[in-house]
Amino acid sequence: MQVNTHLQQLQGNYLFTEIVNRTEAYKATHPEQRLLRLGVGDVTLPLPQPIIHAMHQAVEELAHEDTFRGYGPEEGYIWLRQAIIDNDYQPLGIDLSTDEVFISDGAGSDLGNLSELFGRNNRVGILEPTYPAYLDTSAMAGREVVFLPCTAENHFVPELPKEQVDLIYLCYPNNPTGATLTHAQLAQWVDYAREHHSIIIFDAAYESFIEDSDVPHSIYEIKGADEVAIEVRSYSKSAGFTAVRCGYTVVPKKTGLQAMWLRRQCTKFNGASYIAQRGAMASYSPEGKAGAQANLAYYKQTADILLTGLRKMGYQVFGGKNAPYIWCRVPKGYDSWSFFDHLLNTCQVVCTPGVGFGKSGEGYVRFSAFSKREDCEEALKRLKSLAHSKNL
Ligand SMILES: *Cc1c(COP(=O)(O)O)cnc(C)c1O
Repeated sequence: MQVNTHLQQLQGNYLFTEIVNRTEAYKATHPEQRLLRLGVGDVTLPLPQPIIHAMHQAVEELAHEDTFRGYGPEEGYIWLRQAIIDNDYQPLGIDLSTDEVFISDGAGSDLGNLSELFGRNNRVGILEPTYPAYLDTSAMAGREVVFLPCTAENHFVPELPKEQVDLIYLCYPNNPTGATLTHAQLAQWVDYAREHHSIIIFDAAYESFIEDSDVPHSIYEIKGADEVAIEVRSYSKSAGFTAVRCGYTVVPKKTGLQAMWLRRQCTKFNGASYIAQRGAMASYSPEGKAGAQANLAYYKQTADILLTGLRKMGYQVFGGKNAPYIWCRVPKGYDSWSFFDHLLNTCQVVCTPGVGFGKSGEGYVRFSAFSKREDCEEALKRLKSLAHSKNL
C-alpha cells in the first residue's frame, strides 16, 4: 500500500487552530473579559421560518407510507433545478437547461470534487490570498500551482497569468478580501480562458451580497463563458444553510464536461438530502426570499457599520460592500499575527490574520459581517478608546 503522498505532505489547518489556541489561552488567563468574535466565516442568524417550515414538512412526508421517498436523482430534483434557472439565471438573461444544473451538498464538496474532471498535469491558477479549498485540493491532486497575487496595488484583482494555466479558480465577491470584479474585468478572464483552452471554476458563494450594478452575479453574464466556465454556488451564505448543506454547480454542455460530471456524480454522489432540497426550494418562495433577504440586510448593515467605523478611525479598509468581509490593513509596526494579538490583548477582539490565507495576506486582518451587531459596535468603541490612548 502507498498513501497519497501529496495529501500526506499537506500541513494541518494552521490558521484556524492557531486562532482557537491563542483565543483559548487568553480566555484562560482573563476569564472575566468578554471576547468579541469578529473573525467568523460562518453565518450566525437562524434560518428563515418559511425554510424551516418546508423542511419540517419534508420530514413529515418521509414519515408516511404514501408520501415517503427513497433515493432521489443524483443530480437533484427537477423542481429545484428548474427553480434555480427561473430565479437565479433567467432574470440575468442566461439560458441554461436543467441538465446543466447539479444540486450539491454545498459548494465545498464540489469545489474539491470538480478537480477529478481534469488531468494531473494541468497547471492551476489560484488567487492569493485564497480560500484554502482551491489550493488544498490542487495540492492533494499533485498539481502545479501558479499563485496570482491580489494586493492593494492591483485592487485585489490579479493580472492575467503570463504563462499557461489550465484551471483557474476565481472567487468574486472574494473571500477573504471582499473584492469584486466588474463585467469588463471578468470578461478579460473569460477571454484568457478561451484563448488558452482553460477552464474557470467560478465560486459565486457571495453572489447574494452584490449590490452594485456593474458587478456580475454570474460568470455566464459574460458572452462565451458557457464554453469555459463552471459556476459553483451555495445556499450557505445566501440563505443560512451552512449546517443544512445545499448548493449547486452549473456545468454547461458547451464546456464538454457536463456528461463527465454527471457520470462522476452518479457514481460517487447519491444526491443531496431531500429535506435540504425542500429547504432550498423554499428559499425561492416569496416568503422564503423575504426571510433570506432580511438576514442578508442585517449582515450588509453590519458590514457597513464595520467598514465605516474602521475607516473613520483611519484604518485602510477594503471590501465590506458587495461582500461580508472587511479586509483591513494593519497599522505600521505590526504584521497580521502581531496585530491579531494586539487586538485580542487590548480590546478582546478576535479577527482573522490575513497571512493565514496566503503570503500576500500579510499585513492584513479580516473582519466578518457575520458577527453580532452589538459586538461590532462594542469592538469599534474599544478600538476608538485604544486609538485615543495612543496605544495603537
Ligand atoms: C462559505 C464559502 C463557500 C460555501 O461553502 P459550503 O460548502 O457551500 O458551505 C464557498 N466558497 C467560499 C469562498 C466560501 O467562503
